[in-house]
Amino acid sequence: MKAAMIPVSGTNWHNPDWKKLLSSSISKPAELLERLNLTAEQMGDGKATELFKLRVPLPFVERMEKGNPKDPLLLQVWPHPEEYHQQPGFTFDPLAEKHSNPVPGLLHKYGKRVLTITAASCAINCRYCFRRHFPYDEQSYGQKTWQQWFDYIASNPHINEVILSGGEPLLTSDSQLAELVEGLSQFNHIKRLRIHTRLPVVIPQRITQSLTALAANSPFTWLMVLHINHPNEIDDALIRAAAQCHQAGIRLYNQSVLLKDINDDVVILAELSEKLFDAHIQPYYLHLLDKVTGVHHFEVSEPKAQQLYQEMLAQLPGFLVPKLVREIAGEASKTPFV
Ligand SMILES: *Cc1c(COP(=O)(O)O)cnc(C)c1O
Ligand code: SF4
Repeated sequence: MKAAMIPVSGTNWHNPDWKKLLSSSISKPAELLERLNLTAEQMGDGKATELFKLRVPLPFVERMEKGNPKDPLLLQVWPHPEEYHQQPGFTFDPLAEKHSNPVPGLLHKYGKRVLTITAASCAINCRYCFRRHFPYDEQSYGQKTWQQWFDYIASNPHINEVILSGGEPLLTSDSQLAELVEGLSQFNHIKRLRIHTRLPVVIPQRITQSLTALAANSPFTWLMVLHINHPNEIDDALIRAAAQCHQAGIRLYNQSVLLKDINDDVVILAELSEKLFDAHIQPYYLHLLDKVTGVHHFEVSEPKAQQLYQEMLAQLPGFLVPKLVREIAGEASKTPFV
């Protein structure tokens, strides 16, 4: 029995086991199929893992329905044969992001906020991700780089918010994060620290006591922007982790990507918003897919996206409707799509 090997369910929320859970993530397509009682006849052999590695932590696998080849969580991580197909309009670097960093690991595109990359790899590889082609998989931006960030922030005193992004910033250990937070604390002009992360979603045990204590005792307002696409991603462990963040004063938000056959349905989107709200998480953005090579099979047409948005407006209170946005290279913000 696999449950005997790794205590995924029933784990105390503050169990510091997240690194172990991370290292036991599944990377072999055949193993994932076996755990889910699925076959290569149903799903294909997962060969596209050679384009972008399969990587999925067990606590996320546990939320997939066994025997369901269309499970909405499975479809987000399964290497699909369509990934080999080139489609017009889909490119390798749709956001031209590689060209807008003043110092390594720091992007300053938008006004008073800078975005930093502390850890470039991810805890889960989402097939639709525009980062799938980035050469930075094994790069990390450690303390040596941070000094350059501090210098940049010091010489740009209008900056009032630092965003930790990635990749996956919470792959950084709590003690390293504490050093980063301490370094940022020297700037009175920094008011907010924002973390864009999917790790607490796929491994809720990542919300450790030392992390929430760090937030509760720091001079900034902390925001955490999670990335949840489907209501099935929200299980009891995630609800407990979110409650711990809430108690520590961390404001929780969510961004989703609109994905064909996964969440392109108003019933699912409405249920997602309701479940997020119950977990103290504020719906924030619903992104249109970035048009990157190998992800075209996830695309939802623009008229359909517009229709879903109108249906959400009709069914939900305004505060449960995320902003429908897309990212256009060179624009001064995410671009609302209505
Ligand atoms: C999305 C993004 C931000 C944050 O934008 P908000 O609209 O404030 O959420 C900041 N910097 C970069 C480079 C981004 O892509
Ligand atoms: S950056 Fe976010 S969407 Fe992309 S693979 Fe990592 S966790 Fe998934």
